Amino acid sequence: MANSERQADEILALQSIFDRTFRLTNENQYEILIEFDLCTSFTIQLDNKISTVQYLPPLSLIINYHDEYPSDHPPSFILSCFYFSKIDLEKLSQKIDNFWFIRGEVCVYDWIELIKQEITNQFIIRTKEVFRNRLQSCSICIDIIPGIDCIRLHRCGQFYCRTCLNHYIRMTLENGKFGENLLCPQDHCKQVLLPTEIKQTIQNEKLYERYERLTLQHGLESMKDIVRCPR
Ligand SMILES: [Zn+2]
Ligand SMILES: [Zn+2]
Repeated sequence: MANSERQADEILALQSIFDRTFRLTNENQYEILIEFDLCTSFTIQLDNKISTVQYLPPLSLIINYHDEYPSDHPPSFILSCFYFSKIDLEKLSQKIDNFWFIRGEVCVYDWIELIKQEITNQFIIRTKEVFRNRLQSCSICIDIIPGIDCIRLHRCGQFYCRTCLNHYIRMTLENGKFGENLLCPQDHCKQVLLPTEIKQTIQNEKLYERYERLTLQHGLESMKDIVRCPR
């Protein structure tokens, strides 16, 4: 098969895979916007401002075909993305350059997979590390503590030091509040603490079992169609 046919086939395939993020700019050149799946959101702190990241803007990959692709050489490409430094983009380009090219075989889809993988490994994990090592301030005692000793509530993003949150949970449990009534300590915050957050904070099996038992019991009582077994 001639190079031009293989190129046309690859364009058709990529067009059907990437659909609205694929754009043909001229007959030898196209742009693909590469999107990233963040399975969980994460928090970053920049200039004392804490933000939760749930979505990353796409990275742009421009591919330029030439007469010797795919028979002899890979196509040329340009990567651009505003939140990566020039060095990061150069490193990523180098990885693509070093990617094993098989003569006669198209490679753009594999490149995209490589880019996604690299970005998840490098950028996202590194950003999480930044959070863990940065200092955070507890919303109760206002102490400054390293991110790693801090608990960030998943539902509202509030930070607490383990000591304060532990104290709060124990007090609240003693006052007979559990399950859907165990809310984030922040005034006016109506978010419920997750069972995993409670477990991680109190680190006390017995107390946690009590919390689970009370929550279950309460849940069952609130279901009208359940009748207690008399035995
Ligand atoms: Zn605290
Ligand atoms: Zn909250």
